[in-house]
Amino acid sequence: MILPQPTATTQPFWDAAARHRLLLRRCPGCARWLHPQLTFCGCGHTALEWQEASGDAVLVSYAVARRAPVPALQADLPFTLLLVRTREGPQLVSALPGDGHTLHCGMPMRVSFPEPAEGITRVYFAPCARA
Ligand SMILES: [Zn+2]
Repeated sequence: MILPQPTATTQPFWDAAARHRLLLRRCPGCARWLHPQLTFCGCGHTALEWQEASGDAVLVSYAVARRAPVPALQADLPFTLLLVRTREGPQLVSALPGDGHTLHCGMPMRVSFPEPAEGITRVYFAPCARA
């Protein structure tokens, strides 16, 4: 198991995740939504804000891992790496247990906040039924 590694930049993202809320960066200059790790916007602003996102996304791409890239992931095999596009625009990497045989690109996804250990919250996306 690999655990989240918050940095000074992403600590608010992980603090919100622990409260089961998804935060993304937002530029006060042009209102563009940005990835949580970004510290500046393409318009030149550097004082980005945190804002709660909907939690809705669509699956952009995925790949099944059948070999562990690092020993810490051996017990999690097989798992599926996901790239999702949030409704707000930023794309996030996520993962799901299993071989992803029910996934297809474009399917609706919803954020979830599994807690694999005491005090540890992950930000994952899983398929959902959405009209
Ligand atoms: Zn901007």
